[in-house]
Amino acid sequence: MTSSSIKINGHTQLVGLLGWPVEHSLSPAMHNAAFEVLGLNWCYVPLPVPPERVGAAVKGLAALGFCGANVTVPHKQAVMPYLDEIDETAQAIGAVNTILVREGRLIGYNTDGDGFLAALREAGFTPAQRRALVLGAGGAARAVAYALAQADCAVAIHNRTEQRAVQLARHIQRAGTRAPVTWLSTDALPTEVDQARFDLLVNATSVGLWPRTDATPWPETFPLPSHWTVYDLVYNPRETRLLAQARAAGATAVCGLGMLIHQGALALELWTGHPPPVETMRVAAEDALGW
Ligand code: NDP
Repeated sequence: MTSSSIKINGHTQLVGLLGWPVEHSLSPAMHNAAFEVLGLNWCYVPLPVPPERVGAAVKGLAALGFCGANVTVPHKQAVMPYLDEIDETAQAIGAVNTILVREGRLIGYNTDGDGFLAALREAGFTPAQRRALVLGAGGAARAVAYALAQADCAVAIHNRTEQRAVQLARHIQRAGTRAPVTWLSTDALPTEVDQARFDLLVNATSVGLWPRTDATPWPETFPLPSHWTVYDLVYNPRETRLLAQARAAGATAVCGLGMLIHQGALALELWTGHPPPVETMRVAAEDALGW
């Protein structure tokens, strides 16, 4: 169990989380535990911002002397027009999850994709020269698909609304990646899976998320190949129905909490310049989830 002994005073440096809602976020627990173990007089605060206030809130970060912020649902794209600069990766992904305030200038980054890759590698999967099937075409899928393709892993995107998968694949293709990004229709899916085209399955949909924990994005009647690694971005519950299916099939099942921890660790490094205490952040996140 971690306990915070942060002393807020006139020297305290502030970072926060722009989102709507933010009250269930694990990020304050993760970052404040990290600041404490690093001996930094920093504090991370949740900042609930309704959609119509996004512009004012982003500009307010600089005015209030914040060092930076994380950005979560539903503001990851909405903050972009209010930033002074957006780095190449965030441009290519089309979303910002981290803002750095440097000399009054607001700079946008996206650490979701690299956080995902760090978690994947930590789980023992090396993406280069492999093939991934990404389920979903929302914000998380954008970051995951781009990061995989940049890591030289060929990506096929499959989504309930096929047109969104097509648009996402085209968006990433335009950005230019090391490996190709395509989309896969529902009709083509069984053949592609039968022909053992993939090594990695990523659930980047919200299917399986608490409280609808009996739902799965993968049909029960469609066996998962045992050589696959299955990464579920959903981490609440810890063992999703999809991960249980993967284990039952003899595949490697990986819970999405690692991505959350690593995207946060990378953001912390951008703000503070310190190597992030990843294990401290993991323990704090797991404590906050009651694991
Ligand atoms: P979005 O709302 O942007 O996208 C949701 C995606 O889920 C869409 O592709 C949507 O398909 C699909 N979807 C939703 N309901 C269904 C359904 N019933 N059947 C099939 N597909 C469905 O969400 P995000 O991309 O931001 O997040 C996706 C998930 O990833 C969430 O559970 C989120 O908590 C998790 N996440 C985890 C992170 C981590 O660090 N582990 C980081 C970011 C997100 P359609 O286009 O057809 O609507």
